[in-house]
Amino acid sequence: MIKIPYANISLCSEHFIKYYERRVLETVEKYRLISYGDKVIVALSGGKDSVALLSALKSLIDSGSIGAELIPAFIDLGLGSYSEESEEVVKEVCKALGLKPMVIRLKEATGLELPEIARASGRPICSVCGVIKRYLLNVVGYEIKASSIALGHHMDDLMSYALKALLLNDKEALAKLGPKTPSKGIAISRIRPLYLLTERENLVYALVKNLPFSKNSCPYSRLSGLEKELKSFLLKLDEKYSSLRVSFMKELAKESIKSLTKESTSFKPCKYCGMPSRTGVCSFCKLTEGATGSPKGPQAKQYLKSLIIEYMNTVND
Ligand code: SF4
Ligand code: ZN
Repeated sequence: MIKIPYANISLCSEHFIKYYERRVLETVEKYRLISYGDKVIVALSGGKDSVALLSALKSLIDSGSIGAELIPAFIDLGLGSYSEESEEVVKEVCKALGLKPMVIRLKEATGLELPEIARASGRPICSVCGVIKRYLLNVVGYEIKASSIALGHHMDDLMSYALKALLLNDKEALAKLGPKTPSKGIAISRIRPLYLLTERENLVYALVKNLPFSKNSCPYSRLSGLEKELKSFLLKLDEKYSSLRVSFMKELAKESIKSLTKESTSFKPCKYCGMPSRTGVCSFCKLTEGATGSPKGPQAKQYLKSLIIEYMNTVND
């Protein structure tokens, strides 16, 4: 039996799967995340959250509740055995679901692995990683005309990020924590179908559906002191006020939709690679130029174009 405190119910495995998938569907419908005929890239890390996301979306497609094409994508960042193990898991889960994963190799896109780029840039590795992942997925999305990129972000993480942004009065970061960050210029929109599900629910779903997932965390994953405090504060709060998180997330979604609809940032194409930027040079070209002396956007785009052709040929085989 699985207890869902905020809904005040306990479910057996079979009914939990139905509950979980219905909740994903309700989120997709309520926030209009996916429309009929959409092409959705599902960003996979190999962890329980993204694996649960892929499986739930596939089930909803198979049952006819959603009409979309899924493109599972994994980025090999060059993080040694962690990347290798995650890639194996991604391949295994895609095989079990009858999907072909697209494996993007950072080394082939730039000639370098993540730790080398981070070291040369002098920036924290997670911030460098974020720029790289956003860029590579955005280029793939643009080239294959994807409607959106689906992320496995769940309620617990999003809520602690939101509280941190509130405490730091970072309105821009707060607005991006809703269920959807719409497309801007040629940047593909980001969707979060697990917006109203908890980390524990993702874990239970992955376990009861017998999905393979990586139990290891990225060797660089470290929460800041504030993030740790906020996460444990929220878990304690949840023990007493179990429905608070869900109502907070629904309010956050309204605010995020309102402010992102109002926002009218202008984007210019990057002078090196043509991808959207605020200043005329995109974050990826700026990062790689600073770290290596030459912007890697054009090289990465070239690599991704050939990878997409190769991927499409294997999918159509
Ligand atoms: Fe990237 Fe690892 Fe940092 Fe996550 S924890 S952002 S995968 S470097
Ligand atoms: Zn660029």
